[in-house]
Amino acid sequence: MNILVINCGSSSLKYQLININSEEVLAQGICDRIYLEGSILKHKAKDKKIEKQVPMPDHKSAIGYVFEILTDGEYGAIKSLDEIKAIGHRAVHGGEYFRSSVLADDNVIETMRECSDLAPLHNPANITGLIACKELMPDTPMVCVFDTAFHATIEPVAYLYATPYEWYEKYKVRKYGFHGTSHYYVSRKTAEFLGLDINNSKIITCHLGNGSSICAVKNGKSIDTSMGLSPLEGIAMGTRSGDLDPAVLQHIAKKENLNIDEVLNILNKKSGVLGISKLSSDFRDLLKAENEGNELAKIARRVFAYRVAKYIGSYVVAMNGVDAIAFCAGIGENAVYIRGMIVEHLEFLGVKLDKDININTIGKAAIISTQDSKVKICVMPTNEELVIAQDTFNIVSKL
Ligand code: AMP
Repeated sequence: MNILVINCGSSSLKYQLININSEEVLAQGICDRIYLEGSILKHKAKDKKIEKQVPMPDHKSAIGYVFEILTDGEYGAIKSLDEIKAIGHRAVHGGEYFRSSVLADDNVIETMRECSDLAPLHNPANITGLIACKELMPDTPMVCVFDTAFHATIEPVAYLYATPYEWYEKYKVRKYGFHGTSHYYVSRKTAEFLGLDINNSKIITCHLGNGSSICAVKNGKSIDTSMGLSPLEGIAMGTRSGDLDPAVLQHIAKKENLNIDEVLNILNKKSGVLGISKLSSDFRDLLKAENEGNELAKIARRVFAYRVAKYIGSYVVAMNGVDAIAFCAGIGENAVYIRGMIVEHLEFLGVKLDKDININTIGKAAIISTQDSKVKICVMPTNEELVIAQDTFNIVSKL
């Protein structure tokens, strides 16, 4: 059975067509610059690739091109759209409403709209993509898989902010957490890989990509995570500041004559390692610059590693111990030196890194700690699309 996975951003749409039985990715691609000049479709199926500039005035037209290329005689992966049995949509914010994936009916769309206040950049794009797909394929079941759902098990002691309780009662201000599909997948894969019983384990998953978050997974459940009401909270990221004193907002708003939205935009898009280094959000650029003697690139990388290590330390406290720490996503899977810098801070846990294995582990699963390390450290490539496809399959197969 083939499942199409769709991930709609405000001006982009990523897709993967997955055969759920073999877990093979039959085709994948991205529509970029939707609504803008120069919109482009980049598509790959097996060993064939194509890029073409086509006008995409909205998400519906983008999805139309995706359906067209998926069934194209030369570049496609299927003969007819009937071969797509269901569509799984990545949905960012499910608020307190969605504790698991759901069939996307009209009520679900309405509830997602209600959650848009909590994720004004993400939810409207997810809804637009979902509605466009429903219009083009009205008879195909659609499922929403929420980034927040895996964190629904977090208890009030960890999700409440120490702000007036009325803010929670009236406006649902609390920690929600994101990257749930990734933390779910990586915690399970790590347990399997290390021969741990997921229901009797303490695992810290570090999803380190352009957006980054850490999760404390105790007995298979998320009990705390670094992102909050929005993805801005937590560790320093590619362009996001992560945790900071909220008084900074007022201070900078006054000094630079900016409003709250403008300051938040800087904290989301121009901060993190990009902000500190004045150079790049990409750790490959930062490593190169550091090797050429760039001091700001050096400090940016150290701030990142230090903050990740501090969160790991706090989650060892939250779980009263840890069996394994897993790294995933672009930085976690590939940035060998960053992993080394993070683990250096964790000596107090009796953690020992096998430096040779670490250096040779890029983009693949491996245990990178020594045999006598008290805590196992591993690299575990994430696969959010597969989780979305599996959840979609599980729901539609019961229809
Ligand atoms: P993601 O958001 O998971 O796609 O991760 C993207 C980020 O991973 C990039 O911005 C880079 O900082 C980082 N990254 C990807 N590949 C490498 C690599 N080979 N070495 C170091 N960092 C990498």
